[in-house]
Amino acid sequence: MSATAKSEMQPAIYRFTFGNLEIINILDGKVIRKGLHPAFGSERSADEARDLCCANHIDSDRYEHPFIPTLIDTGKQLILFDTGNGALRREYEPLRDRLSDGRLVERLAQAGYQPADVDIVVVTHGHPDHIGGLMEGGQPIFTNARYVFGAGEFDFWKRGEKVREARKFNRELFVKIALPLANRSSFVEPGIDVAPGIRAIDAAGHSPGMLAYHVESEGKRLLIWADTCVHYVMAVQRPDWHHDVDDDKDQAVATRRRILSMAATEKLLVAGYHMPFPGLGFVEQSSHAYRWMPVSYQLNL
Ligand SMILES: [Zn+2]
Repeated sequence: MSATAKSEMQPAIYRFTFGNLEIINILDGKVIRKGLHPAFGSERSADEARDLCCANHIDSDRYEHPFIPTLIDTGKQLILFDTGNGALRREYEPLRDRLSDGRLVERLAQAGYQPADVDIVVVTHGHPDHIGGLMEGGQPIFTNARYVFGAGEFDFWKRGEKVREARKFNRELFVKIALPLANRSSFVEPGIDVAPGIRAIDAAGHSPGMLAYHVESEGKRLLIWADTCVHYVMAVQRPDWHHDVDDDKDQAVATRRRILSMAATEKLLVAGYHMPFPGLGFVEQSSHAYRWMPVSYQLNL
């Protein structure tokens, strides 16, 4: 066995057919982070957080944080949702410890696609792990693509007003790698279709203008919820708990509740950027909370 084969412990590409669409979730990378608490639920006790982790058979001290862009091949167009970390780790010192090296392009090639094949890049929000793969060395990666940003999100980062201290570097980064793409971009509001059957949904809170996307094909429905929930236990089972990287904590809680309720009630398949790979599952409503149900073989049949 080669060293490479030995070091691969998890699959990184998951492809399935969904109505008329081919959908591919790609693991751009993952990092191991410390302390689910106080990152989640800083207003709650450490004991309460530990009990929740224990009940779900996960460690409260260390957790896996994956980055999972979604690619949709409609047969006519190739649409990529978010771009992973790209070269940020190598190019920006402040991000070295937070992010993994972006492997999206390499894994796209394994799936049979080149960056130049991508027609539309949809950016759900402007945080580093979603815009990192837009450019490398100042040059766009997806050379033939047009871009779709949420109008409110783009405007927020462009203006740079009321950016909280922890996001100052994020703002600089957005100005460097996203702003230059403005002349190849369209700016959408919730309720707008970015391609046939693909509609933007308001998901603001985690960032000021984050958008989720509802995808429908031949009666099948998928919700790409971006960072509405950033951990499959902490954010789904305790949607009211604050998360340190949510830009507006109260708005993020209200959005989580609304979107979790929609996913559960309408039995939507969900693609979550930071859910465990392949980042696909369903939301089950229990008496007073929600639970993430990862896909098993449903999409393979
Ligand atoms: Zn994210």
